[in-house]
Amino acid sequence: MDIHIVKSEASASELVQRARAAIAGGVNSGQRRIPGLEALVIGSTEGATITDASGRRLVDFHGAYGPTILGHNDPDVDQAVLETMRSVDHVGLGVSLPEIELAELMVEHVPSVEKVFLTASGSEATYHALRLARAATGRTRIVKFQGCYHGWHDSIALNVITPAERLGQKDPLSAGALSAVLDETIVLPFNDPGAVEDALSDRDVAAVILEPVPHAIGVLVPHQEFLERIRAACTKTGTVLIFDEIVTGFRHALGGYQSIVGVTPDLTTMGKAVANGFPIAALGGRTDLMENLGTVAGGTVYATGTFNGHPSMAAAGVATIRKLESENVIDRISMLGDRLRTGLRELYDRIGVTAEVAGVGSISVAYFMEGPIDRFDDLLRNDADLFVGYRRRLLDLGYLELPLNLKRNTICYAHTEDDIDGLITATEQAITEML
Ligand code: PMP
Repeated sequence: MDIHIVKSEASASELVQRARAAIAGGVNSGQRRIPGLEALVIGSTEGATITDASGRRLVDFHGAYGPTILGHNDPDVDQAVLETMRSVDHVGLGVSLPEIELAELMVEHVPSVEKVFLTASGSEATYHALRLARAATGRTRIVKFQGCYHGWHDSIALNVITPAERLGQKDPLSAGALSAVLDETIVLPFNDPGAVEDALSDRDVAAVILEPVPHAIGVLVPHQEFLERIRAACTKTGTVLIFDEIVTGFRHALGGYQSIVGVTPDLTTMGKAVANGFPIAALGGRTDLMENLGTVAGGTVYATGTFNGHPSMAAAGVATIRKLESENVIDRISMLGDRLRTGLRELYDRIGVTAEVAGVGSISVAYFMEGPIDRFDDLLRNDADLFVGYRRRLLDLGYLELPLNLKRNTICYAHTEDDIDGLITATEQAITEML
């Protein structure tokens, strides 16, 4: 049987119509249909580029919200997936070699990880992390930070990009979220260790969860003292510290951001870059905590998932990590990140635009405002019209930076110096057209 699902004779607008007729809203995740890109149908991808169904080619600095660290269709990862697919399918019993190897690599690299539990998505990993923390402590409350994103479930799907008038209140991302669950989540400002120490002092908080670098709002760099004092406060009060390294893990360092700052959480969630775009994620952490999972004999925390540890997806993870190790990928993409930030700073100085170019390694953002930037509230000063406006113009110049306020740019291993320099030149054109 000959099945063609990649190529179509249909025009781009016909495909958009078909998508809208059959898929709720025409897309499959909330932040995929956005102004300026409403009619985007992906035709093909290769390395650092996307070609849409009308033949428009874009150099991709969006990076699928972070997973494609090596670039699209990486031949080594794809080969590992294909080989695995042809020899071992998903069975839903026991364990397979790719799962074992992926878990071993995570244990080897990530300081806090002694044991691993593989899931299919990041939200599942953070869900299990919180449930495990609640079970282990016998407490219910959770601390999260304004501006951090951890997935779609009720305990943490709140207070990410909050409008000014709702700051300081609960700002759920979704209708239908259970208020009883939202009530158990305390939202605190980032980089304010005193606020965390106060919140933990009654010893009734199960877990503190944070993105060590909040990338949901671009790049908010954590103060070393903040991370160290949260660690100390959690240890003192028996609270479980969870680093959500779903963006930062395997991107800023093989050991995650925790290995850069030398602060070790109790639990870590990982996903995205670990498998170069294939859907696999993980919860990892200290053995005594992880042994509460129902995968362990006697473990009481229910932990299942039909697609957990799918062998081909796990193989994508193994191949990605091996390539990160053997080709010094993280140094290379971080160097390209430095080149971008240096070029943008020089550009904004020269043309007299007030901007804070922030970044860690391969992830960058230019906010149009004066610094310093320590917490989400500071970013309310960003000129959102300029931020979104120049990015919409960039699309006409062949570059994709997500045209949504506060969103980050991501560099992959397939990008070249020319891509970076081309983006800087195009940014100059796009920005000057707006001034
Ligand atoms: N945590 C962080 C830091 C994320 O960036 C994301 C996804 N953007 C998630 C959790 C949720 O992961 P997923 O979308 O795979 O459920």
